[in-house]
Amino acid sequence: MSERTIFEKIVDGDIPARVVHETDTTLAFLDANPLAPGHTLVIPKERYKRLRDTPPELSADVFETVRELAPVIEDAVEADATNIGVNDGPDAGQEVPHLHVHIVPRFKDDGGGPIHAVAGAPPDLDDDELDVIAEEISTAAKDA
Ligand code: 5GP
Repeated sequence: MSERTIFEKIVDGDIPARVVHETDTTLAFLDANPLAPGHTLVIPKERYKRLRDTPPELSADVFETVRELAPVIEDAVEADATNIGVNDGPDAGQEVPHLHVHIVPRFKDDGGGPIHAVAGAPPDLDDDELDVIAEEISTAAKDA
């Protein structure tokens, strides 16, 4: 594997971070450039670049940590709601090549948008095209 990521350096204690939670396999710490108070990143301690690379048990651990932590963070910063997301691949905005889940607390009237705002212009797909896409995915999912 290539040079250690910034997140591996945090796991190893070589650079500081505001760690808010830790399990045997996952670490959660405040994002250094928060989009909101309490913006937290949850990572597997072992580095995998993308969700597709991550072993099933480990990705389950990551998402279980997210499930546990999201309401805790929301309550701690007195937020009203939460966005949870993964930039899964550079073309989706992933800058650090080490899987991480963003937990972003949201506040009523904070001026932000829904997760729908992350994509480009919505495609204009007719029913036949949607049927083809659904069929392609469901066929591929049977082999996953
Ligand atoms: P990405 O764009 O890869 O989904 O998000 C990477 C996130 O990591 C960004 O939100 C960025 O602010 C955060 N980040 C980058 N470097 C550091 C760091 O050294 N410490 C912490 N705590 N967060 C970082």
